[in-house]
Amino acid sequence: MTGNTLHEALFAPLAGRNDALIELPDGATISGRAFAGMIARFAHALTQAGVQPGDRVVVQLEKSPAALAVYAAAVTAGAVFVPLNTAYTPDEVDYFIENAEPRLVLVDPALAPVLGPLAERHGARVLALGADGGGSLGAAARGQPEHFDPVTREPDDLAALLYTSGTTGRSKGAMLSHANLLSNAQVLVEEWRFSDADVLLHVLPIFHTHGLFVATNVTLAAGARMILLPKFDIEAVIAHLPRATVMMGVPTHYTRLLADDRVDRDLVGHMRLFVSGSAPLLEETHEAFAARTGHRILERYGMTETNMNTSNPYDGERRAGTVGFPLPGVEVRITDPDTGEVLDPGATGIVEVRGLNVFMGYWRMPEKTAEELRDNGFFITGDLGRVDADGYLHIVGRSKDMIISGGLNVYPKEIELILDAQPGVAESAVIGVPHPDFGEAVLGVLVPRDDAAPDLAAIRATLGESLAAFKRPKALVTVPELPRNTMGKVQKAELRARFGDRFAVSGG
Ligand code: AMP
Repeated sequence: MTGNTLHEALFAPLAGRNDALIELPDGATISGRAFAGMIARFAHALTQAGVQPGDRVVVQLEKSPAALAVYAAAVTAGAVFVPLNTAYTPDEVDYFIENAEPRLVLVDPALAPVLGPLAERHGARVLALGADGGGSLGAAARGQPEHFDPVTREPDDLAALLYTSGTTGRSKGAMLSHANLLSNAQVLVEEWRFSDADVLLHVLPIFHTHGLFVATNVTLAAGARMILLPKFDIEAVIAHLPRATVMMGVPTHYTRLLADDRVDRDLVGHMRLFVSGSAPLLEETHEAFAARTGHRILERYGMTETNMNTSNPYDGERRAGTVGFPLPGVEVRITDPDTGEVLDPGATGIVEVRGLNVFMGYWRMPEKTAEELRDNGFFITGDLGRVDADGYLHIVGRSKDMIISGGLNVYPKEIELILDAQPGVAESAVIGVPHPDFGEAVLGVLVPRDDAAPDLAAIRATLGESLAAFKRPKALVTVPELPRNTMGKVQKAELRARFGDRFAVSGG
């Protein structure tokens, strides 16, 4: 087959759509046909700027229709799209440009004076694109033809490099092929019953797999429509929910919705589906949302390297605290963290996944790729999990967050679940910190509820009854809130740094 895999499946059909594809907060709409025209004009502008098939195009752009069109344009022009978190500083961007060696870097006009010289040092060219479509790339695209002959890209050709969030060590570029992205979008359309009648409330950033690939590609593959909000802003979300049918969010979005009394059955009764992922959704949040709105949030599990792996069922029980079943075409197995042997059903170990969704390896890091991607195609996710008797996968944390106290493995999630259920506790994080006797000691970090403070002595007594001694936190501390990144993930490394000397021997 020749052609451009993603273009043909996701972008080419837009030319035949006169209906609205994107709705903006002010009510303005962009039809599928108009968006297809934008894609073509940007693809011409990229090509004229020297982008050749296989070249990387790094973008650090605010969320906008133009920025989304640039993603499609880069892929259509045969390039490899490399989106960067908008929070990265120029120093951080410097690393990504050095590592990805892009032909072209696209930035917001305000950043062009800083990032221009930096990119040039690495032999890349910088063009600017504003959220309003202005800037040097916008100017270069104006007046270009509304049609672009897509550059041939086979299913195994790279479509994107997505850098991992890199909480430990340097970020790695996950190489994602056309087939990786398309297969996952098509599977999710089926599993989540997307159709052209759907309207997605798009509240996620578009530099991350969740907002870029899950939200956007699924909407395109289904011929659906999206309301594109610049970010999750509670006022905007409440204003636009009545016209949406689906929302995809991170757990913090759901706690923010629950914190607002306007969120009730009347507001969201018409909605078809709420999806959560990127970080664990507390059972309590799942239950509270169901009680308030009548909707059981559908939790799924994925990552930059693999796209989506598992999902709770659309029909059938959406089990709180679990991430559901492997998606069609995805295999999940649980292995021993030390030996790599496949474990018996029900045991906790490393989650490994295999399927068309799994990436091609880390960009220019063959040794990292060899460490994490087995010859037989299984990717060692670094997440710890177990599959329950009914086949639901439970994620119990990252393996690097596993605590080894006195030589025994402690899984933080087991303790967090107990702590979360204590009176006066809103949520918790359990970490390992250096300890002179035990190597690592278990430390419980608690966030008090707004309306009641936790009784730490009573909690310690409860833990004493329900947990083996080696699992019991050696200390409990309280913090006003847990540190989280933009995708809602608790930053345990930050907590370890903060509380790392809790058990240090003074006077050493
Ligand atoms: P990222 O590569 O930024 O998408 O992060 C992927 C990681 O997020 C996974 O390896 C998990 O540790 C975590 N994650 C994603 N979805 C879930 C979920 N539903 N429950 C628990 N952890 C999740």
